[in-house]
Parts: sequence; structure tokens; C-alpha cells
Amino acid sequence: MEPLKKEEEKALNFLEEIIENDLRTGKHTSILTRFPPEPNGYLHLGHASSIWLNFGLAQKYGGKTNLRFDDTNPVTEDTEYVESIKEDIKWLGYSWANEFYASDYFDKIYEFAMQLIRQGDAYVDDLTPDEIAAMKGTPIEPGSNSPFRDRSVEENLELFAQMKAGKFEEGAKILRAKIDMASPNMLLRDPILYRIKFAHHHRTGDAWCIYPMYDFAHGQSDAIENITHSICTLEFIPHRAIYDWCIAKLNIYPSHQYEFARLNVSYTVMSKRKLLQLVNENHVSGWDDPRMPTIAGMRRRGYTPRAIREFCERAGIAKRDKLNEISLLEFCVREELNKTSFRRMVVFNPVKVVITNFVEEEVLLESENNPEEEHSGVRTIPFSKELYIEHEDFMENPPKKFFRMAIGQSVRLKSAYIVTCNGVIKDEAGNILEIHCTYIPESKSGHDTSGLKVQGTLHWVSIKHAIGVELREYDRLFKSENPALEEGDFKEYINSDSLNIIMNAFAEPALKEATESQRFQFLRKGYFCKDKDSTLDHLVFNRTVSLKESFTKEVKK
Ligand code: ATP
Ligand code: MG
Repeated sequence: MEPLKKEEEKALNFLEEIIENDLRTGKHTSILTRFPPEPNGYLHLGHASSIWLNFGLAQKYGGKTNLRFDDTNPVTEDTEYVESIKEDIKWLGYSWANEFYASDYFDKIYEFAMQLIRQGDAYVDDLTPDEIAAMKGTPIEPGSNSPFRDRSVEENLELFAQMKAGKFEEGAKILRAKIDMASPNMLLRDPILYRIKFAHHHRTGDAWCIYPMYDFAHGQSDAIENITHSICTLEFIPHRAIYDWCIAKLNIYPSHQYEFARLNVSYTVMSKRKLLQLVNENHVSGWDDPRMPTIAGMRRRGYTPRAIREFCERAGIAKRDKLNEISLLEFCVREELNKTSFRRMVVFNPVKVVITNFVEEEVLLESENNPEEEHSGVRTIPFSKELYIEHEDFMENPPKKFFRMAIGQSVRLKSAYIVTCNGVIKDEAGNILEIHCTYIPESKSGHDTSGLKVQGTLHWVSIKHAIGVELREYDRLFKSENPALEEGDFKEYINSDSLNIIMNAFAEPALKEATESQRFQFLRKGYFCKDKDSTLDHLVFNRTVSLKESFTKEVKK
């Protein structure tokens, strides 16, 4: 894969072009963007792309970004989500200029509604939702006017006040914009502005029983905050006409809406509604299950903020939907962890090795924490008579070019000595109990005077110093590249083998000191981090990603 080009060499994306033009022509002297999550779930990788875009553009052009909770739907929202969203944005490395809530604007938005009514641009409609739908027309036929469309301003003001005062049942009345029932844009056929909902709101409590619709809250909130560039995803293109209509009719700050394609990523789903189902139906252990494409899940799995930002940058922004490869994210995280992670040795599937000529109690060896980073220091690794190596690293009847351990063959034990294998001891069933080796004291790594050359280097641990650890390896959560587009329920495409737990692994003792924020490369095995399920005497590590790309589409079968 190509290294990222330097800032000045990169072509501008279409939003950067628009902003540079706006700044050059003096349309704006500075820019203000916003990230507007609905607090009805945890943030996912798609949100990361929107965060990277909104905060990144503001940073690049010396502007600011507001965090605005789009909390106009009282039913699905929760304070737990507000907190997780803030934590995730901070973790991704961004800070907002202001923390706002659309619900803080309810009074103001109510005023806007009254203004439209007074201007004759909105009316209270008594039709039922079914009647409204039936009279909406089709894309090729115009709709028909509601019989309540020509109510007087006074009557509308009175009815709207009564709606607010809780005088009507849910669904009995709504407020509609009076635009054009024959508009080719179906959304402009007198869109609903306010609906009655007797629901407790996570911030305003029971103060309101009418709530503005998205189309009468989002643009208004943008205008109230003087947002210059309001960036959303493609499905809002037809809504832009309402956005602009409201700004013109209310004569408020002319924010402008721009659309880009949603980020989709292979082998996962990217909608909070679907992710919520996975959580509620126990397909995963929670929003932060390391297989989830949520920021919380990716953080727990060991992905880093920098790798996620890098992924967003490389995936870029598009004006048409496409599917991005999850392997691109894995590439980004490998590239970073290779440079930054501490190297440690962990044997996943142990077989015992006895160094028959080793007579000391132990030797303390030193090894660099990270050969890629000069000042990363060293750790001590104890070496003793009895070791574990990987079962797969020994073969009794090896094929040609097997450079690992075999009888009569020599290999280097990483950061330790060259050993020569002399034989094996087996039980009656033929299982290997011990592999017997001799070591060459002059071959100590870093001080090797033996003059010997060997082909293979193996990782190992000293049995009496090793700590038992649990390892969790993750695979794709779905068998299908794009489960949301498959026939039937997306959950039918869940990969039932997405979690592999290894209970019987042994780690070098330095890993006792691991913290959750540290990242490790387990030599020859992959990148790992400590999981929050760890206790003092039971350490659990998550595999972030394998050392190399190994996934094939085999899973699909
Ligand atoms: P979901 O379907 O997952 O609920 P949403 O768009 O309803 O997504 P919001 O909380 O309303 O989620 O979105 C907050 C911001 O994040 C919006 O500006 C939205 O456009 C953006 N966003 C959400 N999903 C994606 C995605 N997959 N790619 C890019 N931006 C996204
Ligand atoms: Mg939404």
C-alpha cells in the first residue's frame, strides 16, 4: 500500500475546495462545523469518519466545531449514550468548541413555528397519518391539499398553543409547513414540522409534549449556532430543499448543507439500530465487544485513535456509496503498532523443552522492548532449564526447509541462545512429553562468539517464570461482505466462529505489568492488548490484528 502523501501533495476533496473558495471569496472569514449525533446508541466507525471530517476541516482551516446532541426524539435517547459519545470523541483526539443540545433550542424552535404560522406558512392539520400518506400523491402524481390547509392564522395559533398545552392526543393534530402539494420533491409536499408525543425527555423532562421533526430542528439549530458548513450524509439531499426553505422563510443565519457518502465497511454493519439488536439479542457481549465496529469496541480491541483517523483519511470522502475494505483499517493499525508496540513472547500452544546441559538456576537475559523505537528500553527475560515453545515449532519428521526445531537441528531461541535438539520423550500413546536440547553458552544473543549460523528463531518462555494467560482472537463478525444488503435478516449472516479463546497460553513474566493502554506485539503471533476482564491473577489479552493479512474469503463458505 502507498504511504500517505504529504499534506501539500494531496488533491483537495470537494468540501475542502468549497471551503477554500468560501474563504477566498470572503463568503466566510472563518468556518464553524458541527458534529450532531443522536444520543440513541454508541458511536461507530461511520461516525468516526464524520468526526474526522467535521473536526478535521475546522482544524485545517483554523475554524471550530460544535458538538451538538440531536436529541429531539425523546423516545430512544439516553444520558448513558451522551457520556459514551463524549468519551469516544475525546479518545479519537478531538475537542469541541461548545457542547450544545438541540433540546436547548426547543423554546426558540417553537417561536420559529409561531412565526411561520403568523406568516401563513404553516398550519395545524387534523388528518390522520394514514390520510396524510394517502393524499401525498406519488412521484409522478401531485398530492392533494388537506381540508385544514386554509385555516386562519388565528385558529392555527390557537390550536398550536393547545397542542403545546397537551389538549390533544398523540396523532390527533400535527403542524405542517404550507409549501406545495404538487412539488416534484415529495418532501416539500407540506412536510410535518411538529408532532405530539407524551414522552419523558432525557433533558427537558415533561416540559414538552410536542417535539419538532428533524427537518424543523436540524437546520434551525445550525442557524442558531451560525454553522457555516453543515455536513451530512447523502440520504439528506432531498431534505436540503426544506432546509433552505426554512432559512428563507424565517430569515435566519444562512447555514448551508453539504452531503457526502456514508462510510460502509466490509464484513460488518454500520447502523446503530442494527448494532443495538446485536447487543440486545446477545450476539455480542455489549456495545464494547471487541468485534463491534463501535469506537468503544475498537478501543477495547486495541485499535488506536491514530490508526482510525488514518483509516478515515485513506478511505476519504465520496459522493457515491461504496464499500470500504476492513483490511484497510487493519493495515493502518498494523503499520502503527509495528512502530510503537512493545515486543513480548507468549506461547499459545506449549510443548516442553528441557535444556539438558543447563546447570544454573536461571540466567537473566535482556531484550529490547521495541527494536523500531530507539528509546523504548529493555526488559528482563529469565531463561532456565525448562522452557515452553510452540507445539507447531517442533516436528519429528520435518519436510525440507523446515527451519524450526527438529532432531539434530539447531535454532536460536529469541534473545537467548542457540540450542540443538537431541531427542524426544513420549508417553505410551505417542504424545510428546519433553523435547531434549543442549544449549551453546557462547551463543548468547548480543554476545555471540560461537560463530554458528542458524536459520530459525523461535519464541519461548521459561516454565517456572511464565504466567498463564487467556487469549481472545477475533475474526469477522459476519460471513457476508455486506450483510445489510443480503436477503433476509442481516443476523443470519453472523459468523459463528468470530471468537476463538485460548486458555492454555503462557507469557513471559514482563506481561504481569501490562496496562490496558499498552500495545504489544506477541512475537510471530500478532498485536495484542490487555482486556478489561483481566484480574490480578488472570490476565486476558485481545488480539487486535494478526501480524500479516491472513484472512481469505473462505469464511464465506
Ligand atoms: P445510524 O444509522 O447509525 O443511526 P445516524 O446517521 O442516524 O446513523 P446520527 O447519530 O444521527 O447517526 O449521526 C451523527 C452524524 O454522523 C451525522 O452527521 C451522520 O450523518 C454521521 N454519520 C452516521 N453514520 C455515518 C456513516 N456511516 N458514515 C459517515 N457519517 C455518518
Ligand atoms: Mg439518526
